[in-house]
Amino acid sequence: MKTWDVIIIGGGIIGLSLAIELRQRGATVLVVERGEPGREASHAAGGMLVDCAAETPAALQDLAIASARMYPEFVQGLQIESGMKVDLRDQGAIVFPPPEHAQERPGSKLESLLPASLAQLEPALADHERPAFFLKERSVDPRAITAAALETAKRRGVDISSGEEVDAVNLAPDRVCGVTTRKTLFLARKVVNCAGAWSGQIAPHNFPTRPVKGQMLCLIAPSRGVLTHVIRSPEVYLIPRSDGRILVGTTVEEAGFDKRTDVATIQRLHRAAIALVPELRNAKILEDWAGLRPGTPDALPILGQTSTPGYYVATGHFRDGILLAPITARVMAQVISGDRCDHDLTAFSPARFSTGSSRHH
Ligand SMILES: Cc1cc2nc3c(=O)[nH]c(=O)nc-3n(C[C@H](O)[C@H](O)[C@H](O)COP(=O)(O)OP(=O)(O)OC[C@H]3O[C@@H](n4cnc5c(N)ncnc54)[C@H](O)[C@@H]3O)c2cc1C
Repeated sequence: MKTWDVIIIGGGIIGLSLAIELRQRGATVLVVERGEPGREASHAAGGMLVDCAAETPAALQDLAIASARMYPEFVQGLQIESGMKVDLRDQGAIVFPPPEHAQERPGSKLESLLPASLAQLEPALADHERPAFFLKERSVDPRAITAAALETAKRRGVDISSGEEVDAVNLAPDRVCGVTTRKTLFLARKVVNCAGAWSGQIAPHNFPTRPVKGQMLCLIAPSRGVLTHVIRSPEVYLIPRSDGRILVGTTVEEAGFDKRTDVATIQRLHRAAIALVPELRNAKILEDWAGLRPGTPDALPILGQTSTPGYYVATGHFRDGILLAPITARVMAQVISGDRCDHDLTAFSPARFSTGSSRHH
């Protein structure tokens, strides 16, 4: 029976990026995906690459900054290897802070904007007098980058098994020997759980991940170039893509594993977008959707080796999984290969939760 060095459970951006990195280091890798790769949170995301202190938990700062720095090279590699474009944009963001944060924070990366500069940067905004800041940050199309990662993984010889739901990680008797799916068994001495919001459902560890729903819609502007920058306000954010689409997000809802959108919420987001940029009144709604972010009790990812020899986890990336994919792939590949890790992962250790190792969940 065929065996692999590493089995990755879950073909989202985290699992696929890690598969590529491990393959690069010479490991044989199988990604086991319940549905089609890249169709869950990684398909639903906005793709803002935010590494700014105000948004990111303090413990995550180092990883966020390191990952943001890796992005141009990460994208270039994927584009060359896959032959696909992923629309990495670096025009920056315009941030309208909540009123209580309207003053510039010393040491922050936010640059205060005068009304005249704001009008010049984004003429289509309704209000150029509102306190605003410029933030140097990038955005990417998550669907495109996930598709490019999938294609790159395949071209590098990563095996992908779609339509296979992993029920449990198998032990023989005290270390990992593979996974059991509804249909079959796959063999490997190392297994990594990258199952996003569903990571906690796979025995023998009950990682405390939970789904945090986000609803979004996508507009197609009547003319291109209505917006250049990402616009972030307390009510809504707008993410322009190079092909004229504008994404509008989002909600942060505790709604279980429910991916339905509701009309009232989508309309509220749509109205908020029009209030910011009146020209969007003439934009068509192309699509709306909801996705499930992998949340954790302390809003930090779970990264590293579990108490079960050969079993690793990389999940819980919550609102930053697109940003954190390159650094997660790098540090997890280091941990799995037994190399020295570039970053201190103590704050993200699975040991901080008493997940135990129980077969019951
Ligand atoms: C509305 C919204 C907006 C967002 N905006 C941003 C943003 O602007 N910037 C940013 O950085 N991040 C953003 N995020 C967060 C980002 O999408 C996630 O953190 C990231 O996609 C997580 O990737 P993942 O691979 O861990 O999870 P997923 O993409 O969910 O992948 C997990 C995969 O595991 C599979 N799976 C689950 N259980 C099993 C099983 N038992 N067996 C086999 N396979 C299984 C699933 O089918 C899925 O394909 C946003 C998320 C949402 C929902």
